[in-house]
Amino acid sequence: MSSPIENVVVIGTGCAGLTAAIYTARANLNPLIIEGTQPGGQLTTTSEVENFPGFPEGVDGFMLMDNLRKQATRFGTRFEQARIDSVDFTSTPRKLVCGDRTILAKTVIIATGASPRMTGIPGEKELFGGKGVTTCATCDGAFYRNMEVAVIGGGDSAAEEALFLTRFASKVYLVHRRGELRASKIMADRATSHEKIEMVWNSVPVSVEGVEEDSVSGLKVKNSQTNEESTLPVKGIFVAIGHLPNTGPFAEAVDVDDEGYFKPSVGSQVQTNIPGVYVAGDCADHVYRQAITAAGMGCQAAIETERWLAEQEA
Ligand code: NAP
Repeated sequence: MSSPIENVVVIGTGCAGLTAAIYTARANLNPLIIEGTQPGGQLTTTSEVENFPGFPEGVDGFMLMDNLRKQATRFGTRFEQARIDSVDFTSTPRKLVCGDRTILAKTVIIATGASPRMTGIPGEKELFGGKGVTTCATCDGAFYRNMEVAVIGGGDSAAEEALFLTRFASKVYLVHRRGELRASKIMADRATSHEKIEMVWNSVPVSVEGVEEDSVSGLKVKNSQTNEESTLPVKGIFVAIGHLPNTGPFAEAVDVDDEGYFKPSVGSQVQTNIPGVYVAGDCADHVYRQAITAAGMGCQAAIETERWLAEQEA
């Protein structure tokens, strides 16, 4: 089944995608936005966002995304829940295939974000989800009231997850493979000085214990300086070691770099090697990865789209 030819299809409803939708909708391009399995993107799993400009007291991540969605809707963005299985960017118009439906588009803005990276240690996969291993403190933290938990990682995400978990857990071990956090100074200071957080420095995760009982009973770690192994007696393990770009169905059609991130053309942050196909947000940015920079890229992609369409029609 084919659809009419869309002016612009935006893929992804995180900060980048919704900003692109707001701008293209206000430019009267009548955008169609495709939302996948996590509407609103990563910010919907964050608690307080303190660094998005314009909110001096901070803003709830879910509320911020809900507001962006309402703003995009107000200017006429159409939303459709679908999963893009494959694309054909050799044809004009561009083709996006989801199940038995093919969407035809003059231009495409890919803003598919990134997904949590996992450690790959034994037991992690088996006990992921409701069994004790998770990547989202906001979603699952309340299940660990008065229990001991561990957070793995050393960046802002790990510090933020650990701090959030202090609201529920009796103790939070922050397990990091180096001797200092990579997180920003303000977040690192808050985490390392918190009375409920115990830093487990220079320690690599070895295995998740509890597979036989079907629920987490501990996290085995190895100190990289002494080679000593020990088991932290935790019931919950929060993995916060970064993200991998969601470029899967597009990676053969659009240039990506060695790490799988979209590789924009020289001189542009958002133009791909395919004319009329743009990228925005965490799927194309492994340097800044902020809500505000994703929104900025969404804006750039939308303006480039508008100009490209105008040039084609001139
Ligand atoms: P990140 O900065 O890339 O940090 C990932 C951490 O995980 C690093 O400390 C890394 O260790 C560790 N790690 C990676 N692979 C590992 C493995 N296999 N085993 C154990 N540890 C591993 O990722 P992030 O914390 O998700 O942050 C991503 C971006 O979002 C950053 O730019 C960050 O500033 C931003 N962010 C900002 C906020 C905020 O401002 N509120 C909140 C969250 C995220 P090494 O240090 O040894 O490399």
